[in-house]
Amino acid sequence: MNEFDIIEKYFKSAYPSSKGNLTLGIGDDAAIINVAEESELVISTDTLVSGVHFFENTLPEDIAYKALSVNLSDIAAMGALPRWVSLSLTLPSKDLDWIEKFSSSFNQLAIDQSLILIGGDLTKGPLSITVQIHGVAPQGQSLRRSGANVGDLIYVTGELGAAAYALKHIEDSNKFAQSTDKEIQRLYRPDARIKTGLELRNVATSCIDISDGLLADLGHVLKASNVGAEIKLSEIPYSDSLKKLDEDLAITLALTGGDDYELCFTLPKGLPDSVMDELKLICPVHCIGQINKDVSKLSLINENDELYEIKSKAYRHFN
Ligand SMILES: [Mg+2]
Repeated sequence: MNEFDIIEKYFKSAYPSSKGNLTLGIGDDAAIINVAEESELVISTDTLVSGVHFFENTLPEDIAYKALSVNLSDIAAMGALPRWVSLSLTLPSKDLDWIEKFSSSFNQLAIDQSLILIGGDLTKGPLSITVQIHGVAPQGQSLRRSGANVGDLIYVTGELGAAAYALKHIEDSNKFAQSTDKEIQRLYRPDARIKTGLELRNVATSCIDISDGLLADLGHVLKASNVGAEIKLSEIPYSDSLKKLDEDLAITLALTGGDDYELCFTLPKGLPDSVMDELKLICPVHCIGQINKDVSKLSLINENDELYEIKSKAYRHFN
């Protein structure tokens, strides 16, 4: 089986070759998309490298799910609707069993999200996966990191820390008790908050997805928006997993652990209750603090209204 046979059998056959705005899919030198005039294209790409972004023994179906989901999460953070995806796979060998498992997981999630695979590449080398997603939004309505204003309230979706806990257990099973299925699921199969992102259009002043930890990612919003923030530790939606840990470690994992793929966004004060009601119908949403004018400064406040210092700020896998 050569490269083209593999693409045909394991990937191309799962998708329509033309549909809607897709004029030409896989099979030519490039795909052709007819983008509606009143839309803007929102493009995101990410590479996952074996031994850096995932463990070498991670299951191919989990690698596929995560590679696609982390890109979907970026599209969600932009308030766009994901439409088309391309995939570049670098594989150490032509392991058809691995490819079968990878492709069925990848194709399933893509189809569940109404994504069409429009192209990509298959090469030989150390295992790595590059995914690029193209989404659409009405012109001028995509969300950005740069719009947070002094006085805006800061929100996060879902809960924080479960994926970080699962990772800690894998790295140090003596210190961290066995992860639950839910924690492992959060690490390997995060679900992008696409619906929330769409609902935040025309409402949120800024938005980002939490891939590197709340502090790091909210830090990007503060920098881009030229503002600061105060976060109330008692309002953070800590994952139940963290209850197994002492308080400081729990806070550190929830705020710097990463891999949560929740959304962090800012809303102006005084929005009608109906806005929050709509958002909460999609997933849990928590107000965790407020934007202030201390440019690029992020202050953590404990339950006694005192400043709290966190031990490790930039937590990154394998570093
Ligand atoms: Mg992101």
